[in-house]
Amino acid sequence: METYGPISLLILGGTGEAAVLAERIAARAPMLAAIVSLAGRTAAPRPLALPMRIGGFGGATELARFLREHGVMAVVDATHPFAALMPFNADSACRMAGIPLVALRRPEWRPVAGDRWLEVPDMATAAHAIGREPKRVLLTIGRQELAAFASAPHHRYVARMIEEPEPRHGLPVLTVIRARGPFALGDEINLLRGEAIDTMVAKNAGGTATAAKLTAARALGLPVVMVARPDKPDVPVAETVDAALGWLEDHGILPTERGV
Ligand code: NAP
Repeated sequence: METYGPISLLILGGTGEAAVLAERIAARAPMLAAIVSLAGRTAAPRPLALPMRIGGFGGATELARFLREHGVMAVVDATHPFAALMPFNADSACRMAGIPLVALRRPEWRPVAGDRWLEVPDMATAAHAIGREPKRVLLTIGRQELAAFASAPHHRYVARMIEEPEPRHGLPVLTVIRARGPFALGDEINLLRGEAIDTMVAKNAGGTATAAKLTAARALGLPVVMVARPDKPDVPVAETVDAALGWLEDHGILPTERGV
């Protein structure tokens, strides 16, 4: 058992929304025993307004044990829209522990007039969809799934990510740009022009922090191979931090501010 006392609220983090939610909760209810859990993928995560724990729980059953042992009353799944496993683990664990769960999940991006999107279900299909002709491709997909593009070695890749990629990504020609959003439109246009990009690959993460790249691609008339989100469990969803705070009020975790 980890060295915590009772925990009223567990936030599964890894997103900007989790950080903002932590800040809002810490400001509103400083006595609430709430913590944020991170997987530990980023070596130097940004400091948060609530205590953090880092590392996997060891699957759904172990997460359920953690919830019971610490008397957790509710869970907010604020993991990234492309986290494929944790949302299902959280759903199963909360059912086992008999406590409520809400997913804080921002809406998907939708194409607008002028966009040249090719929507694909996964990264392997994205690699194939770039085509036979050699391209100069900007990958804005993080570092965990670069290996999918080893099946299309005839393109030249520029990949933007927060931390260095695994050495065994298998891409013969790869330029890495290390950067953490949010990104401004002017900088995105300069990046696309400066690197002579002719195709972008993006995950449909949604939100505002990284949306400027799509506006930049539209402005330059570039095609975007847009990878769809993985499946999610059927649980209550709050699309914004405010909606998640409202859910916490409704479930008696946070004191209500309504009518104040
Ligand atoms: P995943 O496939 O859903 O999770 C893999 C395993 O990592 C889970 O089974 C769990 O291990 C552990 N884990 C995930 N989120 C955790 C959390 N908040 N606290 C403790 N353990 C966690 O997720 P992923 O795609 O590997 O992403 C890992 C983390 O990076 C997530 O927290 C996500 O929010 C963040 N992130 C992911 C992406 C992305 O594109 N995938 C982008 C930005 C941020 P156990 O089963 O051992 O508990």
